[in-house]
Amino acid sequence: MVIEKDIWNYLEEVSDPEIPVMTIVDLGVVQSVSLVDDNCLIVITPTYSGCPAMKVIEEDIISLLHSKGVENVKVELTLFPAWTTDWISEKGRAKLLEYGIAPPEHEVDKSVLFAETTVVPCPLCRSRNTRMVSQFGSTACKAHYQCNDCLEPYDYFKCLK
Ligand SMILES: [Zn+2]
Repeated sequence: MVIEKDIWNYLEEVSDPEIPVMTIVDLGVVQSVSLVDDNCLIVITPTYSGCPAMKVIEEDIISLLHSKGVENVKVELTLFPAWTTDWISEKGRAKLLEYGIAPPEHEVDKSVLFAETTVVPCPLCRSRNTRMVSQFGSTACKAHYQCNDCLEPYDYFKCLK
């Protein structure tokens, strides 16, 4: 008999299509899981509105749960409240850093969108002497930075409020 806790554990196996080391649970994308009889409803919030990855995530959730024997799965998108980088779990932040992506800074300020003044510590040497190379990194959700000390280029997961 599958319980909601099991579903959460299964969802830890669904990775984000853009950052494969991150699961959708790490990212805080999964809002709720409910299981009534054998009908499973999963509510997710897209990280970035219009992110095409959401369709992929929805299909991944359904096929994963089917493979676990959960047949009746419905995935619902909710856009309110909008996802923010604050929802990334501590485990998720650690994984981002390990992957070489600077996790979003906790102190969110509006200048992030214009990034000039945002200090993003280098994920490699933790130097704060870094600069933004481009507002867009490997995907639109990230900005591209370089460390002035160790010269490491890296992506910064842009904050969203
Ligand atoms: Zn560095």
